[in-house]
Amino acid sequence: MIFKLLVFAVVVFIVYTLFFKSSRGKVEQPKKKNRQNDSDTMVECVKCSVFVSEKDAIIKDGKFYCSKECAGLK
Ligand SMILES: [Zn+2]
Repeated sequence: MIFKLLVFAVVVFIVYTLFFKSSRGKVEQPKKKNRQNDSDTMVECVKCSVFVSEKDAIIKDGKFYCSKECAGLK
């Protein structure tokens, strides 16, 4: 009887640990999404009107271009 109680306690502990870990993981995910939203500002190419993320865009004379071809750098 005591052995059964011990097994039950261990099972409860494992379930509690798994739940605690998954709930911690859920807390971390929104932070990553916020980081992506901060860095992924979409800008429009002046030449061909294609939208690219700001970090991938090429800036020439204060204007955004989607590629080196559009910026005339090639
Ligand atoms: Zn372009």
